[in-house]
Amino acid sequence: MKTFALAGNPNCGKTTLFNALTGSTAHVGNWPGVTVDKRQGVYKGGREKAAIVDLPGIYSLSPYTPEEVISRSYILGEKPDGIINIVDATNLERNLYLTTQLLETDVPVIIALNMMDEVEKSGDSIDVRALERAIGVPVVAISALRKKGIKELMDRALALPAARTGSTVLGGRLSPAIERARQYYASEGESSPLFHAVKLIEGDEMELARPGADKLCSEISDGDMMAAVADERYRYISAHFSTAKRKKGGGELTKSDRADRVLTHKIWGLPIFALILFAVFHLTFAEDLFYINAIYSASNGGAGLPTFEDLGFAVSEGSGLYENFGIALAACFYDGAAFSPGVILTNLLNLVLGYISYGIGLGVESAGAAEWAVSLVNDGIVGGITAVLGFLPQILTLFLFFSVLEDTGYMARVAFILDRIFRRFGLSGRAFMPMIMGFGCSLPAMINTRTLSDDNERTATIRVIPFFSCGAKLPILTAIAGGMCNLFGLPSVELITYSMYALGMVTAVIAVIVMRATTMRGDVPPFIMELPAYHIPGFKNLMLHLWDKTKHFVKKAFTIIFVSTVLIWFLQSFRWNWTYIGADDMGQSILASVGQLIQPVFTPLGFGSQLGIEYGWVFAVAAITGLIAKENVIATFSVLAAMIAPGFEGTEDGVAEAALMISSTGMTPAACIAFIMFNMTTIPCFAAVATAKAELPAGKFRGTLVFWLVTSYIVGTAIYTVGNWWWTVFIWLAVAVAAAAVVVLHNTGRIKPFKRAGERK
Ligand code: GDP
Ligand code: MG
Repeated sequence: MKTFALAGNPNCGKTTLFNALTGSTAHVGNWPGVTVDKRQGVYKGGREKAAIVDLPGIYSLSPYTPEEVISRSYILGEKPDGIINIVDATNLERNLYLTTQLLETDVPVIIALNMMDEVEKSGDSIDVRALERAIGVPVVAISALRKKGIKELMDRALALPAARTGSTVLGGRLSPAIERARQYYASEGESSPLFHAVKLIEGDEMELARPGADKLCSEISDGDMMAAVADERYRYISAHFSTAKRKKGGGELTKSDRADRVLTHKIWGLPIFALILFAVFHLTFAEDLFYINAIYSASNGGAGLPTFEDLGFAVSEGSGLYENFGIALAACFYDGAAFSPGVILTNLLNLVLGYISYGIGLGVESAGAAEWAVSLVNDGIVGGITAVLGFLPQILTLFLFFSVLEDTGYMARVAFILDRIFRRFGLSGRAFMPMIMGFGCSLPAMINTRTLSDDNERTATIRVIPFFSCGAKLPILTAIAGGMCNLFGLPSVELITYSMYALGMVTAVIAVIVMRATTMRGDVPPFIMELPAYHIPGFKNLMLHLWDKTKHFVKKAFTIIFVSTVLIWFLQSFRWNWTYIGADDMGQSILASVGQLIQPVFTPLGFGSQLGIEYGWVFAVAAITGLIAKENVIATFSVLAAMIAPGFEGTEDGVAEAALMISSTGMTPAACIAFIMFNMTTIPCFAAVATAKAELPAGKFRGTLVFWLVTSYIVGTAIYTVGNWWWTVFIWLAVAVAAAAVVVLHNTGRIKPFKRAGERK
């Protein structure tokens, strides 16, 4: 009895076909990673019986997953009489990637072009004859679900020749190396010599583990060819196999295809993405939308557009209430410059929050509450919570834009574009999605790294995710940037904000390069990802996402942040002997004494001991409270502001508070930047730390905590020293070059050009 193995990608319909062939009722709908076993049955519908083996679903014959190892050893070791390669016809290119590898074995192959009912339904068609000619093995159109074409498939399978010589789609500059390796294996009497030759060129672990493979490989191959091989396979598939596909309407490109021509263009793809990213940030943060004011003032000799005040309206905040509500409302949209949607929403919310906190303040005072109670409510609770809630609009705006980009299918394209670049510093394009998610929140981003198959790549990615500044870090960024502009006369909050985001990303890139060259070495698996068709995102779905995010944020403000601010208020309002200090003598508070104790640690970063300055410790304390939740940093400022300057009139966007903190601690601009970057790169919030702990093995988790502390300390110190004494940049460069030299020497001295075998332990 002949034996046929069913091989194909996950969800291509293998089990459905297996059931149709053998009459068995195995569970249909397997999820990747669940079924790793092979299953046997007998086909009795033809002129002779045949044994059918259902192999686990795989994308490739590389040994990256248990499924791949099982399928590969079965095909090469048990030598079935034929492989029935099931190809999902609705997803031809991706499925044929595996086909090109199966063809390299010496086992006879027949292709079952499945889901043809779907293809027909969509109005497309596939020229099966042409495909068969191009591939060179029998191709039969079937529908496993509708049990169509099954008999023909099996008749032709049973008629397959007993032997076949492997063939490959790889050519060009890879040819000589492949041919040499093939001849070597053939002369050794190895079966499927071509398959082994190609895998050796790819630097495949299982292949390199064989005796003599290392030597042969270093003779014929010039470095890591895995990506080149994967590229070549796809190029061949789209040039020679995909041409059999006819889209509805006679070969016309679909809208998706046409959009992809531009959006995933080799050269334009990246600038387009950069432009989109810039637009997203601009619409969220810009205080001068489309640079109307900048353009206006440039063409008018420096005179900007008039503000409401210039026009003779009073918009000042008299004793907490706007004197002219109508003007205050209008000023949310325009005040000397048109605001972006993100800023408009922030202004509107802050207007409302301003009235609410004013009302609450009035209420407690008129109720004749004790001094400490008034302070607790106004400075501790209301101040802290509104400082945090005020940022919700911008967080949501940013989140909305990213959700839209993701839902349309564009983000998958970006991963594809970036794969080429990511590879250079040791990551696959797949790592892009978790990173971009990090702009929203590190928690789901860290969980999303499960799609990365290399453990070290995954660890490195989890570690840098917090460097993609999340929504909760946004307040730190904009408040301090605003404060800096007020104090140091810097021109643009927006520019500082972008630069901080960019600096975070640059830090991430450098950190990844360093990790992948030292402690987190490993291969970058080839990039295989389904590019979903573009579609317009569902409005309801988007709103649900936003609502979820809002609920989460508001809940956090009223729980963790509420408790933290009350605690901070308490610590800075009471002495060690539990007596209330009152507003003017904060230096005696518990918080002050603790702060003074820890502040020297941050001296090299510029926000620790400021000689002779009374409140030098507030930034150190804020950074510590940020370990619970990053929103606490600004909430802490808000609570402390009322103590440093009694009667201080805060703003809901935290800018005035930040300015007060900066001026009363004598921080330099460089120290402010160092503070922002320290918070961005240090140990993230409590919840993110717990997630990292759950996602990483214990040893790597401890290493991760150390990594965050060390990175943030180095980044903060470097920014502060270089910003204050520019020539120190040479010291930093010298240290960096020396460190890089040590790493390179170490790596080249100890590891041979082909190192992979056994290294990943
Ligand atoms: P496996 O992961 O390769 O074993 O795939 P399954 O056999 O579990 O099938 C995956 C999904 O594809 C199931 O929902 C099947 O019902 C569906 N499916 C399988 N074959 C066909 C087909 O020929 N036409 C259509 N329309 N759906 C199919
Ligand atoms: Mg299955």
